Amino acid sequence: MRAPAAAYAEQHPPSCLSGFGHVPVPLAPGGLNIAIDFKLRCQDCSSDIFQISAFPLVAPDPSPYSGVRPGQTLYRPPHTLKCVSCNLERPLFDVRTQGYDGVLIGGGAYESGTEGKAFIPGRFHVVVSFIYNIDLTELEELAGEARVGASDLFDWISIVGTGIDGGQNVELGYECA
Ligand SMILES: [Zn+2]
Repeated sequence: MRAPAAAYAEQHPPSCLSGFGHVPVPLAPGGLNIAIDFKLRCQDCSSDIFQISAFPLVAPDPSPYSGVRPGQTLYRPPHTLKCVSCNLERPLFDVRTQGYDGVLIGGGAYESGTEGKAFIPGRFHVVVSFIYNIDLTELEELAGEARVGASDLFDWISIVGTGIDGGQNVELGYECA
């Protein structure tokens, strides 16, 4: 059984998915019950293969970014998805305005990009995971005050791209609270 806030989000998906077709992934036995995953499709042509955009930055030496080595590419948000079949591109996630901290206090600790948007190499099937580590009643109160849907106040988002044609996988995870 999913926890109440995740179950609510299954029925009322976060608004950042509004530009896409989305199907909830059934909770696996022993799966994390405070999480809800959605598999995405293009809203126009129903293809499920996307490019993922980011604002790449090559970390300098020494790297000021935790977990990112000098010379490694950091794929900064915001992120869009572009359908490989029909080229429709839609925004997916902006850490400055979406998620718990984005909605309530204008963003978290992550550096966002403003120039030099590019697509991450590869083409991907995309699943987006949300985690709600908060009581649904409290979530609904906060959402009511902020005039957003309760599911928009997620604690964590992870954009998981599974590379097709043997390409590399990519995971973009953000702690939002
Ligand atoms: Zn399409």
